[in-house]
Amino acid sequence: MGTVTGSSYFLTGESTGLMVDFGMFQGKTEDMGLNEAKPAIDFDKLTGVVLTHAHLDHCGRLPLLLRYGFRGPIFMTEATKALAELVLYDSAKLAKESDVKSVLYTDEDVEKTMKQVHLVSYEKPFMIGEFEVTFLDAGHILGSASVLIKDIKTGKLISFSGDLGNTPEPLLSPTHWVEKADVSVVESTYGDEIHEPRDEAEDLAQIIAEAEKEKGTVIIPSFSLQRSQEILYIFDQLKKQGKMADETPVFLDSPMAIKATEIFRDFPELYSRKLKTQTKVDDPFDFPNLVLCDSVEKSRQIKNLKGVKVIVAGSGMMSGGRVIHHVISFLGSPKTQLVFVGYQAEGTLGRSIKDGIKEVNIWGNTVSIQARIKEIKTMSSHADQGQILTWLGKMDGLSHVILTHGEELPRLVLAEKVRQELPGVEVSLPLLNDEIEV
Ligand SMILES: [Zn+2]
Repeated sequence: MGTVTGSSYFLTGESTGLMVDFGMFQGKTEDMGLNEAKPAIDFDKLTGVVLTHAHLDHCGRLPLLLRYGFRGPIFMTEATKALAELVLYDSAKLAKESDVKSVLYTDEDVEKTMKQVHLVSYEKPFMIGEFEVTFLDAGHILGSASVLIKDIKTGKLISFSGDLGNTPEPLLSPTHWVEKADVSVVESTYGDEIHEPRDEAEDLAQIIAEAEKEKGTVIIPSFSLQRSQEILYIFDQLKKQGKMADETPVFLDSPMAIKATEIFRDFPELYSRKLKTQTKVDDPFDFPNLVLCDSVEKSRQIKNLKGVKVIVAGSGMMSGGRVIHHVISFLGSPKTQLVFVGYQAEGTLGRSIKDGIKEVNIWGNTVSIQARIKEIKTMSSHADQGQILTWLGKMDGLSHVILTHGEELPRLVLAEKVRQELPGVEVSLPLLNDEIEV
């Protein structure tokens, strides 16, 4: 679609149609307006909706479907339902609190939407109109799925990647391959990148060692879903291995991340093999001196605490959330390390700081940045170019690849790669609202 957010596809057959995802456009202001536009699709044909996973850019517009008159089923895995509920209520709340953004939907809309949810399991086919649909574990975030759709009239098989994981992920089962498909609609977020080997545990150990030595503060702006749980798991391991002192406190200062972690605990069957084994003897998301800041008061107290400490706080790109308070309290100190563990979009505070601004102004406070700015690049939860090509390469009978959900450059680079590695396969790069006959 030439843009990374606002993921949604509408697949129509003779008399019925289904939608894959209905995500929110985020980031650029010109994209945000797209959220309010009713998509130009035939809503009379829409028989069912499938949701691949709970990220806002995939589920964020679902409550608007009711407004467009859709009363049919919305299919998703149980873990996706739990996380999507969290994400959608948060999105409704943020809209209410912000005076800039227009309110797309309310709590009541979210409540009604959740009543239309039908739970599905991986690898268990079910019908939507004239289509047979099968969810397969995408290994991206908890509950995430790729979707294989069979048109029962023509026998044609179409796979939708959803977001593919950076498999094998430390917390999750590996990505399930699609063995056979004629057409594949695939994401291209990192279509032009090869991820470096994972060594985030070592990087964090180094950062913690420095902080313990100088009695400094480590601030990690983190996304609530998946990334925060990965960080907790790493600290759990480091403390067990003696690479981090049991006494060093870690504050999880994000009510949403705290709730997401509880949801993680409810689905051990979705964990990686290593994590499953560990869960039998130990809680992988808990360790000595982990403080869950479930109230504003607990969050406020952090700034008075002297000595070494680690603060994991949202939002992940510092565009709001409790991390802003910690920026004011701690970024003026050379004994602070600010550690980025995820993508920082253009226009966010995180991106400006990463790019080297020396001073920030927040709520009338001017902070001269003395903190050391660090970045851990290996914690991506998206497949890179090689992993995407591997996913496509497993499909028997593939004749057409449709590349979506990426910015223009990665998509073009990936298109070239697909043409080289899968000769004879047609490659399409649709734009928003394009129709493709398959
Ligand atoms: Zn995602």
